[in-house]
Amino acid sequence: MQDPAALVEAFRKEFGGEPRLYRAPGRVNLIGEHTDYNDGFVLPAALEMATWVAAAPRNDRRLCIRSRLYGQDASFDLDDPAPTPRHDWTDYVRGVALMLGCEGRPVGGANVLIASDVPVGSGLSSSAALEVSVGYALLDLAGDIVDRRRLALACQRAENEFVGMRCGIMDQFIACHGEAAHALLLDCRSLEYRLVPIDAKVRVVICNSMVRHALAGSEYNLRRQECERGVALLGAVLPGVRALRDVDMAGLERHAGLLPELTLRRCRHVVSENARVQQAAAALQAGRVDAFGRLMNASHRSMRDDYEISCGEIDILVELAWRSEGVLGSRMTGGGFGGCTVSLVEAGAVEAFGAAIVTGYVKATGRTPEVFVCSPGPGVCHAVS
Ligand code: ADP
Ligand code: MG
Repeated sequence: MQDPAALVEAFRKEFGGEPRLYRAPGRVNLIGEHTDYNDGFVLPAALEMATWVAAAPRNDRRLCIRSRLYGQDASFDLDDPAPTPRHDWTDYVRGVALMLGCEGRPVGGANVLIASDVPVGSGLSSSAALEVSVGYALLDLAGDIVDRRRLALACQRAENEFVGMRCGIMDQFIACHGEAAHALLLDCRSLEYRLVPIDAKVRVVICNSMVRHALAGSEYNLRRQECERGVALLGAVLPGVRALRDVDMAGLERHAGLLPELTLRRCRHVVSENARVQQAAAALQAGRVDAFGRLMNASHRSMRDDYEISCGEIDILVELAWRSEGVLGSRMTGGGFGGCTVSLVEAGAVEAFGAAIVTGYVKATGRTPEVFVCSPGPGVCHAVS
């Protein structure tokens, strides 16, 4: 957890002047993996782990940024007629400033100091926490009333077009719209959403495998291509299919023979996962946490066997959780090939669960996992020091 007073003090020392403080959360996706770019449904929750921004306006048109994570600073001219990405962390920040400008929300020059306790590259979306905290800060400094939906879209566009990562809208959307003690059911096509309360009797526990295999990026793009191929083949016989979101299991089974075996398995994950997300949201709303947990388990098996985005370390974490007392469900969360698992655990069993995971995982892999017991927190906001 960042110390806001220390961040303000650091800002005074490094830039001079009095900053305003903002924070945007990381997120964990409870269920709905690789459904976002298929126009489907996801059910993330915002975390208390967050990226903090201390920022103050400048009199010129420069954006001067520094991250405690990397210790180097960078400075950009907001009026650069041909801004080119540097292929490092600064692209996320600069990309947001540029996209807000493109969307009719020009921001002014600013000094920005960034600090975060969202683990980077672990599937908890440190990138969206960074984009959204900076975007909110720049809009607020410019005296703009922040439209959270537009902010989320501008941040996604920054990651797609300036960073060059074809991410969906989920991460930025939950960083903008999360609420404490709630998950958020999002329709990634319409951007309609509904907050779903999380039963106080259960805890969301994240276990970080501490591995991230290098093929994550290339495999992500391959999965997207398989989904597109599935849509093209199914769309030829099922009118109105624009995305896998428009296909149900009955339709997929009826036309399974049209698809190559690999494409069929990829599509089966997405189609079944979309159904699971909607069932899971209904179960959570009704307090049926055991049903919710079973859907998480089915989601993991589908990612492991049909979508093939799990890995040995993640499967070990999930199987350790499945064997633990008081665990309602467990699955990989995030893009895949490492990163984190998410488990739903009875509140009274959390401590023993954490200990069993650490012991079992160290024994099996020699690595020590991080275990976070989470209380879902609020979306991006102005913070006080
Ligand atoms: P994830 O979003 O799952 O954490 P990504 O690969 O999408 O992983 O984003 C991680 C990248 O976001 C980092 O490599 C870095 O460029 C940038 N980033 C995240 N947090 C910070 C931070 N506090 N300071 C600077 N850059 C950050
Ligand atoms: Mg990310």
